[in-house]
Amino acid sequence: AQNARESMFIVNGFARDYFQDILVNHIDGKAIGMAYFRQRGFRDDIIKKFQLGFSTDVRDALVQEAQRKGYQKEFLLKTGLCYERDDHSLSDRFRGRVIFPVHTLSGKVVAFGGRILTTDKKVAKYVNSPESEIYHKSSELYGIYFAKQAIVKQDRCFLVEGYTDVISMHQSGIENVVASSGTSLTSGQIRLIHRFTNNITVLYDGDMAGIKASIRGIDMLLEEGMNIKVVLLPDGDDPDSFARKHNATDFQAYINEHEVDFIRFKANLLIDEAGKDPMKRAELISDVVRSISVIPEAIVRSVYIRECSQLLRVEEKLLQIEMGKLIEKQL
Ligand code: ATP
Ligand code: MN
Ligand code: MN
Ligand code: MN
Repeated sequence: AQNARESMFIVNGFARDYFQDILVNHIDGKAIGMAYFRQRGFRDDIIKKFQLGFSTDVRDALVQEAQRKGYQKEFLLKTGLCYERDDHSLSDRFRGRVIFPVHTLSGKVVAFGGRILTTDKKVAKYVNSPESEIYHKSSELYGIYFAKQAIVKQDRCFLVEGYTDVISMHQSGIENVVASSGTSLTSGQIRLIHRFTNNITVLYDGDMAGIKASIRGIDMLLEEGMNIKVVLLPDGDDPDSFARKHNATDFQAYINEHEVDFIRFKANLLIDEAGKDPMKRAELISDVVRSISVIPEAIVRSVYIRECSQLLRVEEKLLQIEMGKLIEKQL
């Protein structure tokens, strides 16, 4: 199995080089793929650093080239670079898409993401490699290989949603950034970040649906004993679009100005939502207390309880009792 894994990494390495070569040297790659990246404002050095690529719209271009070079069908299938059709012919998974290789902590390519260039709503915007012997989506983070040094240096990790958010932030000079790739965070991903820092700043896309969806996942970060801050971007922006409208200095200034503690952020969000309705208020209070109760350190919990007592206008003693009950349940 070790050999199979090694062969899969080798095939992925070949595919990464192949897609990159198409992007830079092939006529369609230049006219379509490169034009797309340029129009998004990606600089050449960033395109190269992230090893971005392009796949032509030919059904089996990669498979043909791979087999000509002696790569075995078995590993092309196992990595998900291609799949078998009903007539047993092989078909490339990523066709007519720009390619984002996904790297492990040590820089090996475990998977690819491919984005369509059209705005055709019928086709999935992104296609990703399937789970495999080398790719467990829940334990990888996009960008970690390029971010790890900066995370240690800054003692902070920015968490964003997508590939292009990571890339645009790098281009703006903010390199301590990783993406969960659209799904909610897993404990494996959190532990990966925790190897480098205790401090996470979540950059939410500026829409309510996204915010609410991610709030749940954040309790897991608290459970791991991490300090979480949140930055809410302007309505309709994600880190990529924001980075394109503002220079690096302004982006950093926006972060500094809008970074708020997660518990405080959550409490405020819920207060706005509950309004004066007593039942809703009761519910929000236990919701916030629940988040506080998962924090491992007692001192940190008590600081938050005090703050939330003021914020929510509830007696500190009462919040302590509520939290006590929850902690007992967890034990
Ligand atoms: P872009 O700016 O190119 O539109 P994005 O990163 O802003 O991309 P989102 O729609 O915000 O795209 O999605 C965030 C992330 O979720 C993507 O980067 C990708 O990793 C993942 N994702 C989005 N759509 C899909 C899909 N249809 N299938 C699989 N993963 C997806
Ligand atoms: Mn720690
Ligand atoms: Mn987005
Ligand atoms: Mn985007």
